Amino acid sequence: MPVYIVILGPPGAGKGTQSRKLAKKLKLAHISSGDLFRENLKNGTKLGKLADEYIRKGELVPDDVTIGMVSDRLSQKDTVNGAIFDGFPRTPAQAEALGKMLAEFGGEVNMAAYIRVPDEELIERLAGRLTCRENGHIFHRKYNPPKETGRCDYDGSDLYQREDDQAETVKRRIDVYHEQTRPLKEYYQKLGLLFEVNGEQSIEDVMVDLLEYLSVEK
Ligand code: ADP
Ligand code: ADP
Repeated sequence: MPVYIVILGPPGAGKGTQSRKLAKKLKLAHISSGDLFRENLKNGTKLGKLADEYIRKGELVPDDVTIGMVSDRLSQKDTVNGAIFDGFPRTPAQAEALGKMLAEFGGEVNMAAYIRVPDEELIERLAGRLTCRENGHIFHRKYNPPKETGRCDYDGSDLYQREDDQAETVKRRIDVYHEQTRPLKEYYQKLGLLFEVNGEQSIEDVMVDLLEYLSVEK
């Protein structure tokens, strides 16, 4: 049976950092809605251009567009063992849609991990985040610096600061999180699937907590 894991948390909590490592370790596909939008934008697709209008403002891309994109991604071959969802779902409607999509593959969300980090710390993290141009690998100027300034350790491509990581947009993204995404914590709690991790630890220690939970449940 495929395993499907949802990683929840505010912008900057460490979802991408942890999901990438987890996906590798557990041999699951990594499905990041943010990465998919950025890939579309880089490739100049219609979807990318549409999403960009929302991303720039720190608003959520409409549910129908987002759900369609993730549904397409799920039909790719690398999801046979399951997937880790990073940044999706972000609204109750997306969570409902995800349940329906997975049912089509004979599966369901097996676990939801919520990474808890206070707002003040999120601002620090996003202000210093560096993203790799080629494959979206994630670094931080202070907390997780690359070996060579401005270069990705994994693929050597250049690192840039995401436009939506500027202070003004970050504030809006955090508000949007509280308004629209935080209710998902309760949604998965009610389903008995939620595990809360203290995100104010080192990247390694957050990973240890996540793995402990995931291996107990499997
Ligand atoms: P999200 O996907 O939830 O927005 P990221 O994984 O992109 O979060 O992490 C946001 C920023 O914080 C990145 O610059 C990353 O290197 C850094 N970061 C991630 N986890 C930690 C941690 N446990 N401690 C310090 N910095 C972290
Ligand atoms: P972060 O890593 O900081 O959590 P993401 O890379 O996940 O940010 O998302 C960047 C932006 O892409 C969001 O601010 C939002 O505009 C859009 N986005 C990503 N995922 C979703 C989603 N599931 N629903 C709607 N919009 C999304």
